[in-house]
Amino acid sequence: MFQTQIAGAAWDDDTQRWIVTTSRQDRLSAKYLVIAGGILSKAKLPRIPGIETYAGKAFHTSRWDYGYTGGSASEPMVNLADKRVGIIGTGATAVQVVPKLAESAKELFIFQRTPSTVGWRGNKPTDTEWFKSLEPGWQWERVENFTNAVMGTQPEVDMVQDAWTEMMWVGVKGDVQTPEEIAELERIDFVNMEGVRHRIEDLVDDLDTAEKLKPWYGQWCKRPCFHDEYLPAFNHPNVHLVDTDGQGVERITAAGPVVDGEEYPLDLLIYASGFEVTTDYDHRLGFDPTGRHGVPLSEAWSDGPHTLHGVLAHGFPNLLMISTVQGGWGTNFVHYLSETSNHVAQVIAECEAQGIATIEASTQAEEEWLMVLYGTVAGVARYNATCTPGYMNSEQEMNAKSARNLAYLGSIIDYAKHLKAWRDAGGMVGAEVTSGR
Ligand SMILES: Cc1cc2nc3c(=O)[nH]c(=O)nc-3n(C[C@H](O)[C@H](O)[C@H](O)COP(=O)(O)OP(=O)(O)OC[C@H]3O[C@@H](n4cnc5c(N)ncnc54)[C@H](O)[C@@H]3O)c2cc1C
Repeated sequence: MFQTQIAGAAWDDDTQRWIVTTSRQDRLSAKYLVIAGGILSKAKLPRIPGIETYAGKAFHTSRWDYGYTGGSASEPMVNLADKRVGIIGTGATAVQVVPKLAESAKELFIFQRTPSTVGWRGNKPTDTEWFKSLEPGWQWERVENFTNAVMGTQPEVDMVQDAWTEMMWVGVKGDVQTPEEIAELERIDFVNMEGVRHRIEDLVDDLDTAEKLKPWYGQWCKRPCFHDEYLPAFNHPNVHLVDTDGQGVERITAAGPVVDGEEYPLDLLIYASGFEVTTDYDHRLGFDPTGRHGVPLSEAWSDGPHTLHGVLAHGFPNLLMISTVQGGWGTNFVHYLSETSNHVAQVIAECEAQGIATIEASTQAEEEWLMVLYGTVAGVARYNATCTPGYMNSEQEMNAKSARNLAYLGSIIDYAKHLKAWRDAGGMVGAEVTSGR
């Protein structure tokens, strides 16, 4: 159902069905409700005082207005030739957008709170002969090889050979505990970050700008970026880095952003401020599923999420979730999404085969799963505590609720093993089921 948003979903215990309502006034009934509402799908704006007073043109990167900028994803944005453009945010999206804006805008101001790490990307055409030589099953082999490489398992052959597999997740592995192991990982982390900083010196001509673009934090504090044109864009005479020394934009007036008392009047202000990652699940979804006895998810999870595998939840029969909330997580989201989707399909098939009417997690199983999650988090929590604010550490505002709002932080391959072991054991241990159809 295209262009249709779920407005609400309520469990009806009498009919044992989900009643789903939509933005188009549909009322649908379903035995199972699978939510795959996205990982980074809800745009986020920064809480900058005065943001609502800005009088020029503005949009979030995920709401790009080519009507205003001209051009397209593959053509220059010709309407910007006489425009002063500002962009707030220097994360994964801005790194991709800035080189294109630098080509088109009359003047470009990049407002930076914290610089990203920007490694080499090295995109190149795929060798068609090599592609033809691949045997069936190559893709999944490559997916697992990549995950093993980035998790530091070090497969014999690095099939992907990109900057991710070169860096590896070693710095935040949960099973690293001894002071010697931690020290060694910090050393590797520092060496990698020195490489990132030297790359900036090599590519950015102006020494002052280069210094300001250098990230001084651990390599996994923020999502690492990879780009071959971002750093050279700062050599264009029309491109200006407005570094805020970690403070962020002070305020926004009708004319534009203010940093260190200086106002930057703009025609166009672009928010490359990312997407919600650690906010409440119902907020990200845009609807609040109502489970047994009319209890909304927001209420059941008022102290943080409660799930088994991130998939089943107590009080929400036949609701199956595919998200990072107490679920999988890793560099390649598609890997864990495939594993979780497969799991969801198998759970539903099993319910149908066994004549199960409803399935949900037991509260005990939810708490046991939380302990499994905590077992993967120690190294990451220690690491993130040292980081500058960002979505990896809930903007440094961790509390008891956000401590439940975590993902399985070990390897996706291990997460998938948990799911498979649960399925293979049979009996749906930890799930409460009722029979009937
Ligand atoms: C800037 C950025 C960088 C990323 N980088 C990476 C990366 O490096 N590696 C990686 O693996 N992944 C990355 N991703 C994540 C990427 O989003 C996921 O890998 C993948 O797209 C998730 O697939 P999905 O089907 O779960 O969600 P999505 O592709 O987000 O699809 C979710 C769908 O649910 C719909 N939806 C949501 N709420 C409702 C509702 N109430 N009613 C009806 N429909 C609804 C949405 O409209 C959307 O169509 C990145 C994403 C962003 C935005």
